[in-house]
Amino acid sequence: MSLTFDTLREANRRRQLEWPGNDEIDTAFRTIEIAGEGGELVAAVEEHLLASLNALAVAGHLGKVSEQMKKYLRAQRGIKGSKADLEAIGDEIGDTIIALDLLAAGLGIDLGQVAARKFNKTSAKYELHTRLPEGDEEEAPSHCEGCVKPINEGDPYFPYGDGVDACGDCAPLISDIIHNNEEMLGDEELSPEDREDHRDSLALMKKRLEEEGDVKVTFPHP
Ligand SMILES: [Zn+2]
Repeated sequence: MSLTFDTLREANRRRQLEWPGNDEIDTAFRTIEIAGEGGELVAAVEEHLLASLNALAVAGHLGKVSEQMKKYLRAQRGIKGSKADLEAIGDEIGDTIIALDLLAAGLGIDLGQVAARKFNKTSAKYELHTRLPEGDEEEAPSHCEGCVKPINEGDPYFPYGDGVDACGDCAPLISDIIHNNEEMLGDEELSPEDREDHRDSLALMKKRLEEEGDVKVTFPHP
């Protein structure tokens, strides 16, 4: 299964939350950013003569996105001149993605794979935790609910149940589990079996907290 746009959007959302200075990024900044990516792309494929027409097409569409964004921001800011709406911008973004896929196909590049690989390189470079599953990790038995990172056999993880897992970085602390158990025990509609489970867990976690301090609770993934 290849990377989906939904997965990419969610990983972007999560990573922007941890990206220092994210509050200062607006659509004008993004517009300049994509124009810059167009320039980088043309430079990167210069040597591939066969792909150069497709590369120019991508750069051309990126330029049109910037052009429509200029007209959109102009309208928003009350500057005189021709205007564009979100549909016009969406059309150009759609064209850009289609042209990118044609370019990538010509070079034998898997779009989902390179997007995930570069996303993860950038996360590693800036020491951010959010990761996307890469192609060769698709078979991982589970993925972290918090940061989307694959959880492989033997990796530390915490199972929340119902198939919801957390990786070693995102696993809860002993104090988190104690807090959760205490909260659950306060629920008057809790079944007697569940009540007993939470009491057992609470006792066990309090003992571990005394012995180990407040560490993350993980198990090796089976
Ligand atoms: Zn995680």
